[in-house]
Amino acid sequence: MQLNIHLYNVFLRYSRWIIFLYDGSEPGSDEKSVSCRRFARSDMNIESPTATSVHLTQCPVCGQHVLESFLTVPDHAQSGESFQLSRCPDCQLVFTQDMPDANHIGPYYDFPEYVSHSDTQQGLFFTLYHWIRSYMVRRKAKLVRRWKKKPGKLLDYGCGTGFFLHHMVRLGWQGTGLEINEKARSLARNKWQLNVYDPKSLGDYREEFDVITLWHVLEHVHTLTATTKQLVRALKPGGLLIIAVPNYTSFDARYYGPDWAAYDVPRHLWHFAPASILRLVRGVTCVSKRSMPFDSYYVSLLSEKYRNSGLPGRLRGMWNALRSNMMAMFRPSRASSVIYVFQKPLV
Ligand SMILES: [Zn+2]
Repeated sequence: MQLNIHLYNVFLRYSRWIIFLYDGSEPGSDEKSVSCRRFARSDMNIESPTATSVHLTQCPVCGQHVLESFLTVPDHAQSGESFQLSRCPDCQLVFTQDMPDANHIGPYYDFPEYVSHSDTQQGLFFTLYHWIRSYMVRRKAKLVRRWKKKPGKLLDYGCGTGFFLHHMVRLGWQGTGLEINEKARSLARNKWQLNVYDPKSLGDYREEFDVITLWHVLEHVHTLTATTKQLVRALKPGGLLIIAVPNYTSFDARYYGPDWAAYDVPRHLWHFAPASILRLVRGVTCVSKRSMPFDSYYVSLLSEKYRNSGLPGRLRGMWNALRSNMMAMFRPSRASSVIYVFQKPLV
């Protein structure tokens, strides 16, 4: 019964959230298009000191004011609340409307499955977890080295407990991590002596890094456009920005609709199509798109779990994941999750 959720935990482990709970310390949104509300929709554009959620009246990526109603999605994993998704018809960005603001989203990360693995290191699931984690880290490292043969300075934004960063340091890279969760930061520092700081320090860097990575992190970041600009600014000329995010235009997303596990509202604030990522990240050139084949399995299995579809559902989930991967085989931009590799111009 718990297999799917455990597998999905592995999937989520790529990001910063799986073991350590969000501590709610992310700075407030700086999006100019953001207005805050507490309960009523009619008080848009009024910023209240007691506001708890964010209502967007224009697209943060392209500024479009006319937004489409896209989908109503329940928070299957934690609260059971439903959230409306809005879609920008121009750049195709979808976002979680009335998202909890940065100071109030913490409780939505607070569910037992996320912490159940924090200390126990025995059993099949942990074995599987360690195996997939190690495999994925090697794949990520291979991708980095495909573009940058010689180790240089690497920043992992949303590094969690630093597993990927530690691997890269062992390969000779000079690694820096940024992580919002204080417990995860401490663990990365104490266990592996990594240089991990609060994400607020991102703005301090200018043309500092050869490679910057974000593994399933950007969809959680309230300050979407400001953070993206800072990331590009922190890259050296010729440097790489590698961003992995779920893709709502994939086959499995379309198949499962509101039950697609990678909507993961309200923890995922932004839902990207390839077109919206390319519009968002400016000042760099997209040089490659890659699929993440494991993700469609995790997401499809968990989506079936949300539908309470039992053993037949698990089999169907595997089949759908395979179909999704086959469709993405020659077009990675159709994959359930896509890795975008951007390069900053030399001059
Ligand atoms: Zn837009």
